[in-house]
Amino acid sequence: MRVHLVNPSDLAFGTAVITPRWPYVLAAATPERYGTPHIVDETLEHFDLRQVSPGDVVGIGIHTANALRGYRIGREARARGAWVVFGGIHSTLFPDEVREHGAAHAVVSGDGELVWPRVLDDCAAGSPLERYDGGRIAGSEFVSARWDLLPADRYMWGSVQTVRGCPKHCSFCSVWRTDGQKPRQRSVAAVIREVTALRRLGFRYILLADDNFYPVALSDLEAASRRADRTRHEMLLALRRERFELMERLAELPDDMVFFTQITMEAAEDPEFLDAMRRARIRGALVGIESVTPEGLKAVYKNFNSAGEDLVAHLQAFRAHGVHVLGSFIFGLPTDTPSTFDATVDLARRAGVTFAQFVMLTPFPGTLDFAKWEKEATGIPEVDGVPLTRYWLIPPSRRPKIYLPHPVMQAAEIRERTQRAWDRFYALPAIWERSVCARSLRGRAAFVLISRLYRHMYANTGIATASARVARPRRRARLLAGLARRLFVARPMPDLPVPDQSGTIATRPSAPA
Ligand code: SF4
Repeated sequence: MRVHLVNPSDLAFGTAVITPRWPYVLAAATPERYGTPHIVDETLEHFDLRQVSPGDVVGIGIHTANALRGYRIGREARARGAWVVFGGIHSTLFPDEVREHGAAHAVVSGDGELVWPRVLDDCAAGSPLERYDGGRIAGSEFVSARWDLLPADRYMWGSVQTVRGCPKHCSFCSVWRTDGQKPRQRSVAAVIREVTALRRLGFRYILLADDNFYPVALSDLEAASRRADRTRHEMLLALRRERFELMERLAELPDDMVFFTQITMEAAEDPEFLDAMRRARIRGALVGIESVTPEGLKAVYKNFNSAGEDLVAHLQAFRAHGVHVLGSFIFGLPTDTPSTFDATVDLARRAGVTFAQFVMLTPFPGTLDFAKWEKEATGIPEVDGVPLTRYWLIPPSRRPKIYLPHPVMQAAEIRERTQRAWDRFYALPAIWERSVCARSLRGRAAFVLISRLYRHMYANTGIATASARVARPRRRARLLAGLARRLFVARPMPDLPVPDQSGTIATRPSAPA
């Protein structure tokens, strides 16, 4: 019985920016008796199903965007006689759909790593259950990924998770509902072991792939300190202390390492935290800005963000502490008007945002926005017999780009203006101006290359509808990705000592985590 773990994707670029985590985590959770799993990341190349034999297990992890591709793989794998097991956020939300469309024998909901050995045992015995509930496991139980199975020369950045869950409740986001609002932090030693394993392989850029790297804001501490019961305050203080401890340990790693994470804007009000980030060489962070107006923020339940000039000051605070911001903006909010698009790009440039992404409001399953849409929608249009409230079942080429009706703009206008925002922010002169953040000419050239790559990978392919405008960026992205990879990787350090479970550095090299 061979175990295949497949990360589905319609688009394959040959080179990928960030290592996917879940297949390497499940590989680590796979008992030795089932051999080394065969991992297929379709963002690199498509899965050759001829490799599947009767009795194999094909594990497919899906989120909403790649569900349709995952279903196709599931059906074909089952037709070849394999046990088909689905997991991931989308499977957790729609287990019946996964069985119907993906021909799943079994669906795993929640965190998969602890329940995975049981799923494999049941498949080996010929009687998998229809449902397995992985639940929400504690941070101390997170399994470290088997990075020794990574293919050589395919990825630019490694990824390590340090915390799951987010205490906020933004209306467009499913993280707080699926991963929970209670932050589940991994031990510092476990994180450092994984990071070290990646640096040994030559990865010096690491994404701290967290829902929110800053799970305890100063305002949370303040609110908790006013309660008579001290328990919550102490718990939050402990979480905060652990964050600082982690950053101290990251700072001790080889000095060519660079980290990037995802964080809420409140961190800008916490100079002590930002200073620790700088020392840890966390040089960049994705910040969900979403909207530049207070009305827009209210619409997405993100009132804790700043707007207008206050927003500019917050974003500049990151820069002042050496943390580059990848600002994420949403277009198509009910409060947006035609002038919002240019105003957003202007603000992003004025605030010194290093990278930006402009996404169109999409009601993702598991979010409050989706629940409201599904509940209130009447006379929902269909494409090829599929109602729009199940848009992920529509083939990507036929899928609309905008789903929610807007009070003052048509879908085409939102799409075109969003495309123009990308074009403006990533125009060559604008990129060159921003590239002053790099010290050398070579550094500036690298910045330009990476900015163009980012735009081609994430902008045109997602927004454009004309096939030429989709195909050209894909080719460019493929070419640029190959070039950019060389900028990120470093010489492997196979002798770099890996701390043991207690966090102690071994005196002689040990095997990767
Ligand atoms: S968008 Fe960010 S801050 Fe809001 S709930 Fe999701 S992870 Fe948390």
